[in-house]
Amino acid sequence: MKERKRIYLSPPHMSGKESFKIEEAFKSNWIAPLGPLVNEFEQAVADYAGVKTGAALSSGTAAIHLALKLIGVQKGDIVFCSTLTFVATANPILYEQAEPVFIDSERETWNMCPLALEKALLESKRLGKKPRAVIVVHLYGQSAKMDEIMALCEAYDVPVIEDAAESLGALYKGRKSGSMGRFGIYSFNGNKIITTSGGGMLVSDDEAAIERCRFLASQAREQAMHYEHQEMGYNYRMSNLLAGVGIAQMEVLDERVEQKRRIFQRYQDALSEAEGLHLMPEYQETKSNRWLTALTIDRDTQLSPVDIIGALEKEQIEARHVWKPLHQQPLFRHCPFYTAEKGTPVSELLFERGLCLPSGTSMTDADQERIIHILHDMLREKTFTSSQAAHS
Ligand SMILES: *Cc1c(COP(=O)(O)O)cnc(C)c1O
Repeated sequence: MKERKRIYLSPPHMSGKESFKIEEAFKSNWIAPLGPLVNEFEQAVADYAGVKTGAALSSGTAAIHLALKLIGVQKGDIVFCSTLTFVATANPILYEQAEPVFIDSERETWNMCPLALEKALLESKRLGKKPRAVIVVHLYGQSAKMDEIMALCEAYDVPVIEDAAESLGALYKGRKSGSMGRFGIYSFNGNKIITTSGGGMLVSDDEAAIERCRFLASQAREQAMHYEHQEMGYNYRMSNLLAGVGIAQMEVLDERVEQKRRIFQRYQDALSEAEGLHLMPEYQETKSNRWLTALTIDRDTQLSPVDIIGALEKEQIEARHVWKPLHQQPLFRHCPFYTAEKGTPVSELLFERGLCLPSGTSMTDADQERIIHILHDMLREKTFTSSQAAHS
């Protein structure tokens, strides 16, 4: 049998122009650290997002960490956080020895449920333990219900950090994902919609805060002829070389969003007839970047995400579970969790029944057809065996 090329979930997709920018860095010997391309990249991302400024960092996780520092989160402080997300959203809370409190999802966006958030805010007020920050995630490129969330956080006077690691290029009522909270963070990790191989950015309209972010991210070195330090810093800056890759990637971001959306649409068209499959919704007045095509599969299909992921794996195709909610992770077992549901929390259902399909923008139509065929075959087989069982 012919060896098939593996289809990855969301591999890096270079435009081809990155090498010119890298060459520029080499020619000027601005290899590292910092340099003119970092400034240019920061400007490009800030302009795109429609915010005043941004600090290019070594990762999205570093950006979340510094956002918490800038807000002044300290040991013992409470930080609210979406539960349905990658662990990187919440790890920085632990770096500061603060205490995460997880908030359930709602069905329309899969993101932070405003009702559960309100419940948690009310309770924290009653206990006299107001959260220092709320970290809201825009999962798989779909914006959370920001109007409701921002209104609540304003009413309770809590700053919002938008984890837009997965949603660069997405829109909420015409506004760019990541531009609505006090801080927004992006990731340029290899699997994200655009990449610098590794990197992140903290964006904000608060120029003084971003200036301080740059300071903290470069070992908190004071302005002096010698090395002078008054406080603890980090080595979190992005290198000039990688910023060059980022500049070239920013030029294709809108194109990537449209490609991701077309991939989603093809899955949608092909699977719309299949009973029991539900693709991730797109909430009214939002435009998802469809970073990953995610879907849930009903229990009565007799198919589980494990079955599908396993069957695709046999064909060298990478599919993944939806993130396991953080309140279910052993790491966070002692953390409070709020849901507005009477029964099983929405995030838990999404984890149990959800999966992500390959969504790389460099995937060919033929690759995607092959994935769709496998899914159709599995669904047909199941319907056949279950109706046989019903008749025997
Ligand atoms: C990727 C990701 C991050 C972390 O970004 P890194 O650049 O890998 O540190 C944070 N939050 C979410 C939701 C992510 O998907």
